[in-house]
Amino acid sequence: MTDPTEAAAFDALLGRRSDHLLVIVDELLRIVRAGPEAAALAERSEAELVGMSLIAAFGSASLDAVARQALTAGGASGEAALGHLGARQFAIDAIPIRGGGLVLSLHEITQLRRIERVRRDFVANIGHELRTPLTSIKLLAESLSSGAVDDLETMREFAGQVERETDHLAQLVDELLDLTMIESGETTLTTSPIHPDAVVRDCVTRIGPVAERREVRVRQLASPDDRVQALADPERLGQALLNLAHNAVKYSHTGGEIRLGWEPTGTGRVRFTVADDGIGVPEIHQPRIFERFYKVDRARTREPGSSMGGSAGLGLSIVRHIAEAHGGAVGVTSEEGIGSTFWIEVPSVAA
Ligand code: ADP
Repeated sequence: MTDPTEAAAFDALLGRRSDHLLVIVDELLRIVRAGPEAAALAERSEAELVGMSLIAAFGSASLDAVARQALTAGGASGEAALGHLGARQFAIDAIPIRGGGLVLSLHEITQLRRIERVRRDFVANIGHELRTPLTSIKLLAESLSSGAVDDLETMREFAGQVERETDHLAQLVDELLDLTMIESGETTLTTSPIHPDAVVRDCVTRIGPVAERREVRVRQLASPDDRVQALADPERLGQALLNLAHNAVKYSHTGGEIRLGWEPTGTGRVRFTVADDGIGVPEIHQPRIFERFYKVDRARTREPGSSMGGSAGLGLSIVRHIAEAHGGAVGVTSEEGIGSTFWIEVPSVAA
């Protein structure tokens, strides 16, 4: 670029459009000048890029195609995957310049595309989770209304199943609303010092009837000799612990036992634990079970779609969000066929 006014214009553009990467090419698509960000994207120095062909510099057929089209059509736009392993997504505008060649302006849209994908997956997951109970309800209602079922006992049984599926749907909607509220930061925590014993005792009481129905024993572990208190929102922490206890019962064997307890971590936190000797979580799934909609395998649940309901894979992601909202953490140690210990940590204060 010999024309000083053109060089000045390029520098001005670079300064003003700092979120755009700029490259100038001649009519043979050889690089005349590239901005520092564009050079970094090509993993070369600005000087090295001068004279290189666009395709050699960026290795992208899509970018090359947009540039070619711009030369013949008087301008063009498109998208290309660029950078190391094509991991970054860019929107491209190619504008012809007087005297031949083009200015290519690249604007990164990786994050935008990621958000779009997450949203699409989220909607697809919800659709999938809603379809199963809805299909069951429809089939049951059809059997009842077609007159194919005429004995009272079967009718009652079908109506009972409709009720359970509806409960499941209601729980799914509650979990989704909960998750959305917590994720968007709309839920404000009202924290106060609470005794860990009280949190555990409350959870033991609440899970009792559910465990009894499933013939699973519930035990509260002896509390450590420590006067530490948890600094937490009692309702939210209780909800998180109850979610873990629900899972522990759900994935236990008949006659099993779940154990709830707590201990100070020695790092300014209290760790609540929920242990079971149930089916366990295979190691490869452990890093992912706290993601929303992540399920190991529905077929392993004792009674899928039963009154325990809620097998949407949302429970643990809610627990994780509650822990993180407190500035705490969650985790699991588990062995398939042996059992699991889930834990949640929240900040502590000396009593
Ligand atoms: P779900 O509604 O499917 O139980 P969660 O988010 O609560 O969803 O759990 C995600 C997955 O983690 C479950 O599908 C299950 O496979 C596994 N899981 C959770 N808790 C336990 C447990 N105590 N024992 C064995 N597997 C568990």
